[in-house]
Amino acid sequence: MTTSKTPSGQIPGVYRRRIGDIVVTAISDGYLDAFYDFMRNIEPQDAERILKDTYRPAPPRVSINSFVVHSAGRMALVDTGSGNSMGPTLGHMPTHLAAADIDTKAIDTILLTHMHPDHSNGLTDDNGVAKFPYVELVVSERDVDHWHDDTAMARATERQKMRFFQSAREQIKPYQKRRRDARGEVFPGVTAMPLPGHTPGHTGYLIASKGEQLLIWGDIVHIPDIQTRRPDVFMEPDTDGQAAIATRKRTFDMVATDRLLVAGMHMHFPGFLNLARRSDSGYELIPELWNQAL
Ligand SMILES: [Zn+2]
Repeated sequence: MTTSKTPSGQIPGVYRRRIGDIVVTAISDGYLDAFYDFMRNIEPQDAERILKDTYRPAPPRVSINSFVVHSAGRMALVDTGSGNSMGPTLGHMPTHLAAADIDTKAIDTILLTHMHPDHSNGLTDDNGVAKFPYVELVVSERDVDHWHDDTAMARATERQKMRFFQSAREQIKPYQKRRRDARGEVFPGVTAMPLPGHTPGHTGYLIASKGEQLLIWGDIVHIPDIQTRRPDVFMEPDTDGQAAIATRKRTFDMVATDRLLVAGMHMHFPGFLNLARRSDSGYELIPELWNQAL
Protein backbone atom coordinates (compact mmCIF):
# COMPACT_ATOMS: atom_id res chain seq x y z
CA MET A 1 0.00 0.00 0.00
CA THR A 2 1.32 3.44 -0.90
CA THR A 3 0.92 6.30 1.55
CA SER A 4 -0.11 9.71 0.31
CA LYS A 5 1.23 12.87 1.90
CA THR A 6 -1.35 15.26 3.32
CA PRO A 7 -1.14 18.63 1.49
CA SER A 8 0.38 21.34 3.68
CA GLY A 9 -0.11 24.45 1.54
CA GLN A 10 -2.80 26.12 -0.56
CA ILE A 11 -2.85 25.96 -4.36
CA PRO A 12 -1.87 29.34 -5.91
CA GLY A 13 -4.79 31.75 -6.17
CA VAL A 14 -5.32 32.50 -9.85
CA TYR A 15 -8.51 32.74 -11.96
CA ARG A 16 -9.27 33.95 -15.50
CA ARG A 17 -12.32 35.66 -16.96
CA ARG A 18 -12.89 36.64 -20.59
CA ILE A 19 -14.57 39.96 -21.44
CA GLY A 20 -15.05 39.89 -25.23
CA ASP A 21 -11.52 39.82 -26.68
CA ILE A 22 -9.93 40.82 -23.36
CA VAL A 23 -8.79 38.34 -20.71
CA VAL A 24 -8.65 39.41 -17.06
CA THR A 25 -6.68 37.25 -14.62
CA ALA A 26 -7.36 37.64 -10.90
CA ILE A 27 -4.19 37.25 -8.83
CA SER A 28 -4.39 36.86 -5.06
CA ASP A 29 -1.82 38.68 -2.95
CA GLY A 30 -3.19 36.95 0.15
CA TYR A 31 -5.43 38.21 2.94
CA LEU A 32 -5.53 40.38 6.00
CA ASP A 33 -7.42 39.82 9.25
CA ALA A 34 -9.14 43.14 9.99
CA PHE A 35 -10.44 44.61 13.24
CA TYR A 36 -13.87 45.94 14.15
CA ASP A 37 -12.38 49.31 15.12
CA PHE A 38 -11.36 49.73 11.47
CA MET A 39 -15.06 50.31 10.65
CA ARG A 40 -17.12 53.46 11.17
CA ASN A 41 -20.94 53.86 11.44
CA ILE A 42 -21.50 50.36 12.83
CA GLU A 43 -21.34 48.82 16.30
CA PRO A 44 -18.98 45.83 16.63
CA GLN A 45 -21.86 43.54 17.70
CA ASP A 46 -23.85 44.49 14.55
CA ALA A 47 -20.80 43.86 12.36
CA GLU A 48 -20.28 40.49 14.05
CA ARG A 49 -23.94 39.54 13.57
CA ILE A 50 -23.79 40.26 9.80
CA LEU A 51 -20.58 38.24 9.46
CA LYS A 52 -22.10 35.30 11.36
CA ASP A 53 -25.32 35.51 9.30
CA THR A 54 -23.25 35.30 6.11
CA TYR A 55 -20.99 32.49 7.44
CA ARG A 56 -17.85 34.63 7.33
CA PRO A 57 -14.94 34.76 9.79
CA ALA A 58 -15.54 37.30 12.56
CA PRO A 59 -13.63 39.61 12.87
CA PRO A 60 -13.49 39.84 9.07
CA ARG A 61 -10.85 38.31 6.82
CA VAL A 62 -10.14 40.55 3.81
CA SER A 63 -8.82 39.39 0.42
CA ILE A 64 -6.19 41.47 -1.37
CA ASN A 65 -6.43 40.99 -5.14
CA SER A 66 -4.78 42.38 -8.24
CA PHE A 67 -5.78 41.85 -11.86
CA VAL A 68 -3.79 41.30 -15.04
CA VAL A 69 -5.41 42.52 -18.26
CA HIS A 70 -4.47 40.99 -21.63
CA SER A 71 -5.74 43.23 -24.41
CA ALA A 72 -4.68 43.87 -28.03
CA GLY A 73 -1.47 41.86 -27.60
CA ARG A 74 -0.44 43.90 -24.57
CA MET A 75 -0.49 43.31 -20.83
CA ALA A 76 -1.43 45.62 -17.95
CA LEU A 77 -1.40 45.04 -14.20
CA VAL A 78 -4.13 46.66 -12.10
CA ASP A 79 -2.58 47.33 -8.65
CA THR A 80 0.68 45.80 -7.49
CA GLY A 81 -0.19 44.13 -4.17
CA SER A 82 1.50 44.78 -0.86
CA GLY A 83 5.11 43.94 -1.72
CA ASN A 84 6.58 42.15 1.27
CA SER A 85 5.80 44.74 3.91
CA MET A 86 2.54 43.59 5.45
CA GLY A 87 3.13 40.23 7.12
CA PRO A 88 3.13 36.55 6.19
CA THR A 89 -0.49 36.31 4.97
CA LEU A 90 0.26 38.84 2.21
CA GLY A 91 2.91 39.42 -0.45
CA HIS A 92 2.10 36.28 -2.44
CA MET A 93 1.41 38.04 -5.73
CA PRO A 94 4.83 37.33 -7.36
CA THR A 95 4.43 33.58 -6.68
CA HIS A 96 0.90 33.63 -8.08
CA LEU A 97 1.91 35.63 -11.16
CA ALA A 98 4.54 32.97 -11.85
CA ALA A 99 1.95 30.22 -11.33
CA ALA A 100 -0.25 31.95 -13.92
CA ASP A 101 2.75 31.93 -16.29
CA ILE A 102 2.78 35.71 -16.44
CA ASP A 103 6.14 37.22 -17.33
CA THR A 104 6.21 40.50 -15.38
CA LYS A 105 8.76 41.90 -17.83
CA ALA A 106 6.06 41.78 -20.52
CA ILE A 107 3.75 44.07 -18.50
CA ASP A 108 3.90 47.48 -20.23
CA THR A 109 1.35 49.41 -18.13
CA ILE A 110 0.42 49.52 -14.45
CA LEU A 111 -3.01 50.93 -13.64
CA LEU A 112 -3.39 51.97 -10.00
CA THR A 113 -6.81 52.28 -8.39
CA HIS A 114 -5.15 54.44 -5.72
CA MET A 115 -2.02 54.68 -3.61
CA HIS A 116 -2.28 52.70 -0.37
CA PRO A 117 0.16 50.07 0.91
CA ASP A 118 -1.89 47.02 -0.14
CA HIS A 119 -2.19 48.41 -3.71
CA SER A 120 1.02 50.27 -4.47
CA ASN A 121 3.76 48.90 -2.18
CA GLY A 122 4.57 46.37 -4.89
CA LEU A 123 5.84 49.20 -7.15
CA THR A 124 9.26 49.29 -5.46
CA ASP A 125 11.56 47.01 -3.50
CA ASP A 126 12.87 47.68 0.03
CA ASN A 127 15.52 50.03 -1.38
CA GLY A 128 13.03 52.14 -3.32
CA VAL A 129 14.04 50.67 -6.69
CA ALA A 130 11.30 50.21 -9.31
CA LYS A 131 10.23 46.57 -9.67
CA PHE A 132 8.73 47.37 -13.10
CA PRO A 133 11.38 49.64 -14.64
CA TYR A 134 9.89 49.73 -18.15
CA VAL A 135 6.19 50.28 -17.52
CA GLU A 136 4.10 53.37 -17.92
CA LEU A 137 2.33 54.08 -14.62
CA VAL A 138 -1.27 55.27 -14.78
CA VAL A 139 -2.48 56.82 -11.53
CA SER A 140 -4.83 59.69 -10.74
CA GLU A 141 -3.04 63.02 -10.52
CA ARG A 142 -5.34 63.83 -7.59
CA ASP A 143 -3.90 60.93 -5.57
CA VAL A 144 -0.32 61.90 -6.40
CA ASP A 145 -1.03 65.53 -5.41
CA HIS A 146 -2.75 64.47 -2.18
CA TRP A 147 0.09 62.25 -0.97
CA HIS A 148 2.57 65.07 -1.73
CA ASP A 149 0.46 67.65 0.15
CA ASP A 150 2.41 68.61 3.29
CA THR A 151 -0.64 70.30 4.84
CA ALA A 152 -2.74 67.14 4.47
CA MET A 153 0.18 65.11 5.84
CA ALA A 154 0.45 67.37 8.90
CA ARG A 155 -3.23 66.61 9.71
CA ALA A 156 -2.75 62.82 9.47
CA THR A 157 -2.01 60.38 12.29
CA GLU A 158 1.60 59.28 12.79
CA ARG A 159 0.77 55.88 11.34
CA GLN A 160 -0.84 57.45 8.25
CA LYS A 161 2.09 59.85 7.78
CA MET A 162 4.49 56.96 7.50
CA ARG A 163 2.40 54.22 5.89
CA PHE A 164 0.40 56.38 3.45
CA PHE A 165 2.14 59.69 2.73
CA GLN A 166 5.79 58.69 3.09
CA SER A 167 5.34 55.32 1.36
CA ALA A 168 3.39 56.83 -1.56
CA ARG A 169 6.13 59.42 -2.13
CA GLU A 170 8.82 56.75 -2.16
CA GLN A 171 6.84 54.41 -4.44
CA ILE A 172 6.04 57.03 -7.05
CA LYS A 173 9.56 58.46 -7.19
CA PRO A 174 11.19 56.09 -9.71
CA TYR A 175 8.10 56.35 -11.97
CA GLN A 176 7.80 60.14 -12.12
CA LYS A 177 9.07 60.37 -15.70
CA ARG A 178 6.83 57.55 -16.96
CA ARG A 179 3.58 58.52 -15.36
CA ARG A 180 0.19 59.45 -16.86
CA ASP A 181 -3.04 60.72 -15.29
CA ALA A 182 -5.88 58.17 -15.03
CA ARG A 183 -8.32 59.77 -17.51
CA GLY A 184 -10.25 58.41 -20.46
CA GLU A 185 -9.05 55.27 -22.25
CA VAL A 186 -5.85 54.29 -20.45
CA PHE A 187 -5.23 50.91 -22.11
CA PRO A 188 -6.94 49.23 -25.11
CA GLY A 189 -10.56 48.64 -24.02
CA VAL A 190 -9.96 50.02 -20.51
CA THR A 191 -11.42 53.36 -19.39
CA ALA A 192 -10.68 55.13 -16.10
CA MET A 193 -13.70 55.98 -13.92
CA PRO A 194 -13.13 58.47 -11.07
CA LEU A 195 -14.59 57.06 -7.81
CA PRO A 196 -13.31 59.56 -5.20
CA GLY A 197 -13.75 59.26 -1.44
CA HIS A 198 -11.62 56.38 -0.21
CA THR A 199 -8.76 58.52 -1.53
CA PRO A 200 -9.14 61.75 -3.53
CA GLY A 201 -8.00 60.07 -6.74
CA HIS A 202 -9.52 56.64 -6.19
CA THR A 203 -10.25 55.24 -9.68
CA GLY A 204 -12.16 52.31 -11.13
CA TYR A 205 -11.35 50.75 -14.50
CA LEU A 206 -14.16 49.80 -16.88
CA ILE A 207 -13.18 47.02 -19.28
CA ALA A 208 -15.31 46.70 -22.41
CA SER A 209 -15.03 44.47 -25.46
CA LYS A 210 -17.58 43.13 -27.95
CA GLY A 211 -20.59 44.16 -25.88
CA GLU A 212 -19.27 42.69 -22.61
CA GLN A 213 -18.21 44.79 -19.63
CA LEU A 214 -16.41 44.45 -16.31
CA LEU A 215 -15.89 47.20 -13.74
CA ILE A 216 -12.80 46.78 -11.55
CA TRP A 217 -14.01 49.03 -8.76
CA GLY A 218 -10.90 49.10 -6.52
CA ASP A 219 -11.83 49.78 -2.90
CA ILE A 220 -15.52 50.67 -3.25
CA VAL A 221 -15.86 47.94 -0.62
CA HIS A 222 -13.42 46.70 2.04
CA ILE A 223 -15.60 44.34 4.07
CA PRO A 224 -17.85 42.85 1.34
CA ASP A 225 -20.57 41.20 3.43
CA ILE A 226 -21.04 44.21 5.66
CA GLN A 227 -20.76 47.12 3.22
CA THR A 228 -23.02 45.63 0.55
CA ARG A 229 -25.77 45.36 3.19
CA ARG A 230 -24.82 48.59 4.93
CA PRO A 231 -23.32 50.98 2.29
CA ASP A 232 -23.05 53.71 4.96
CA VAL A 233 -20.29 51.79 6.77
CA PHE A 234 -16.96 53.43 6.01
CA MET A 235 -13.35 52.77 6.97
CA GLU A 236 -10.74 54.45 9.13
CA PRO A 237 -8.32 55.01 6.20
CA ASP A 238 -10.97 56.71 3.99
CA THR A 239 -9.65 60.23 3.38
CA ASP A 240 -13.25 61.48 3.09
CA GLY A 241 -15.71 59.03 4.65
CA GLN A 242 -18.85 60.88 3.49
CA ALA A 243 -17.59 61.08 -0.10
CA ALA A 244 -16.70 57.37 0.08
CA ILE A 245 -20.28 56.56 1.15
CA ALA A 246 -21.80 58.72 -1.61
CA THR A 247 -19.55 57.14 -4.27
CA ARG A 248 -20.29 53.63 -2.95
CA LYS A 249 -24.07 54.20 -3.09
CA ARG A 250 -23.89 55.71 -6.59
CA THR A 251 -21.70 52.84 -7.81
CA PHE A 252 -23.91 50.15 -6.25
CA ASP A 253 -26.97 51.73 -7.88
CA MET A 254 -25.28 51.81 -11.30
CA VAL A 255 -23.96 48.25 -11.02
CA ALA A 256 -27.32 46.80 -9.91
CA THR A 257 -29.33 48.77 -12.48
CA ASP A 258 -27.02 47.90 -15.39
CA ARG A 259 -26.45 44.30 -14.17
CA LEU A 260 -22.76 45.09 -14.53
CA LEU A 261 -20.16 42.46 -13.65
CA VAL A 262 -17.76 43.76 -11.01
CA ALA A 263 -14.34 42.81 -9.68
CA GLY A 264 -12.77 44.25 -6.56
CA MET A 265 -9.46 44.33 -4.74
CA HIS A 266 -11.10 43.27 -1.45
CA MET A 267 -13.95 41.14 -2.73
CA HIS A 268 -13.62 37.47 -1.78
CA PHE A 269 -11.14 35.93 -4.21
CA PRO A 270 -11.34 35.71 -7.21
CA GLY A 271 -13.54 38.75 -6.72
CA PHE A 272 -15.94 38.63 -9.70
CA LEU A 273 -19.54 39.32 -8.66
CA ASN A 274 -22.88 40.97 -9.27
CA LEU A 275 -25.03 42.98 -6.88
CA ALA A 276 -28.77 42.53 -6.47
CA ARG A 277 -31.01 44.94 -4.57
CA ARG A 278 -32.43 43.69 -1.26
CA SER A 279 -35.78 44.72 0.14
CA ASP A 280 -33.99 46.96 2.68
CA SER A 281 -31.59 49.68 1.45
CA GLY A 282 -28.75 47.18 1.03
CA TYR A 283 -27.53 44.84 -1.68
CA GLU A 284 -26.90 41.11 -1.96
CA LEU A 285 -23.45 40.07 -3.07
CA ILE A 286 -23.66 37.35 -5.71
CA PRO A 287 -20.25 35.82 -6.50
CA GLU A 288 -19.92 34.67 -10.08
CA LEU A 289 -19.61 30.92 -10.64
CA TRP A 290 -16.14 29.53 -11.22
CA ASN A 291 -17.16 27.56 -14.27
CA GLN A 292 -16.67 30.17 -16.97
CA ALA A 293 -15.00 28.74 -20.06
CA LEU A 294 -12.19 30.91 -21.32
ZN1 LIG B 1 -7.22 48.51 -0.16
